[in-house]
Amino acid sequence: MAPIFSRFGSGILSLAGLVRSSKYAALRTISNSYSLPETHKMLQKTCREFAEKELQPVAAKFDKEHLYPKEQIKKLGELGLLAVTVPENAGGAGLDYLAYAIAMEEISRGCASCGVIMSVNNSLYLGAIQKFGTEEQKKKYLNPFVNGDRIGCFALSEPGNGSDAGAASTVANLDGDSWVLNGTKSWITSGYEADASVVFATTDKSKKHKGISCFIVPKPTAGLTLGKKEDKLGIRGSSTCNLIFEDCRIPKENLLGQQGEGFKIAMMSLDAGRIGIAGQALGIAQAALDCAVNYAAQRQAFGASILKLQAIQIKLAEMESKIEAARLLTWKAATLKDAGQKYTKEAAMAKLAASEAATFVSHQAIQILGGMGYISDMPAERHYRDARITEIYEGTSEIQKLVIAGNLIKEYGL
Ligand SMILES: Cc1cc2nc3c(=O)[nH]c(=O)nc-3n(C[C@H](O)[C@H](O)[C@H](O)COP(=O)(O)OP(=O)(O)OC[C@H]3O[C@@H](n4cnc5c(N)ncnc54)[C@H](O)[C@@H]3O)c2cc1C
Repeated sequence: MAPIFSRFGSGILSLAGLVRSSKYAALRTISNSYSLPETHKMLQKTCREFAEKELQPVAAKFDKEHLYPKEQIKKLGELGLLAVTVPENAGGAGLDYLAYAIAMEEISRGCASCGVIMSVNNSLYLGAIQKFGTEEQKKKYLNPFVNGDRIGCFALSEPGNGSDAGAASTVANLDGDSWVLNGTKSWITSGYEADASVVFATTDKSKKHKGISCFIVPKPTAGLTLGKKEDKLGIRGSSTCNLIFEDCRIPKENLLGQQGEGFKIAMMSLDAGRIGIAGQALGIAQAALDCAVNYAAQRQAFGASILKLQAIQIKLAEMESKIEAARLLTWKAATLKDAGQKYTKEAAMAKLAASEAATFVSHQAIQILGGMGYISDMPAERHYRDARITEIYEGTSEIQKLVIAGNLIKEYGL
């Protein structure tokens, strides 16, 4: 498959001509791309136009009606955005993690639910298979999952343990030529729609986290059922549910990586995933800022636009500064990963800063909109609800701080 820009070739021309249908037509020009290579600027522009045209107008409907954005996810796949870092010869866009972070921000700015579905498929599902899969596994479980025809999910958390992922109680036992899985995985993003999942289960409890292995489980498979669709605060266009394994039999060759390597696969996938979630949080924050600035420009109080009030400008300055600081951390983490350097600490810092920025900025946006911020005719309240999850999944803020401190202490040689 051609790289994203060749594929965008005709796309760029057609997307460039699209009418900006947003209520917030005063989206500012791209001013924050000073250090980006030309290809990344082009990607940013294209994703922004796609999000404004295809996602922003329908995001409120997906949220209100808890609708999965099927058509939009398919289009993201066709653009190469569901497999941004998968090599071209495997059907992906063949771009780097900086491109991925940028695309995640722009898509999430239009629709945060689309952002999380995109993120899980890219870094958690495909990322794990790309790095640890055999050629045979890639043929079956990577290649068909790059263009939106099929999507994947990632099942690590359990009802009894989320942060403490090493305490997995789902078990996998070898029986002849099959692994037999028993247990429940909880909160699984895209659990309803996914055609396959990477699943973590213990194959040797005595070894604790070193006894966890990773498996690819296609859906449907006998013995795998789904729990109820969770009714969530935000990102309501994405599904979240339990995956319940009851004597669920999968072929022996669906072990991903080596036996006992599961925890390592999970942690490596989450390191990369955190760059994506940082991008998602940035997109939500930026959307909230766009909304606040545009509203403030139109809203009159005491005979003038509230944008002229210093009290409002101070809020906007804080919002902008937090977004920009988090964006730079996110781009730094992505750049380190692309350079093959250690980036665990930086990815955790990026996720921490971007998710806290999203919560702060969306909170302030509601304040700037006043009463209009509190009702669902305006997107501010949705951004506020969408922002909250970014401080929880792929490691809570408290867990990010543990990761950051652990790495920091190591850097001191202590
Ligand atoms: C919408 C949604 C989508 C999700 N998608 C997925 C998915 O696709 N795949 C998947 O595997 N999981 C997914 N999750 C699960 C998510 O990753 C976990 O909810 C998260 O890791 C926190 O785990 P927990 O809910 O069990 O909280 P707990 O681990 O019970 O934590 C509760 C509180 O204690 C704090 N805490 C825990 N341990 C420590 C510590 N050592 N030090 C300080 N504080 C601590 C936490 O920060 C938190 O504040 C999703 C969750 C949600 C809500």
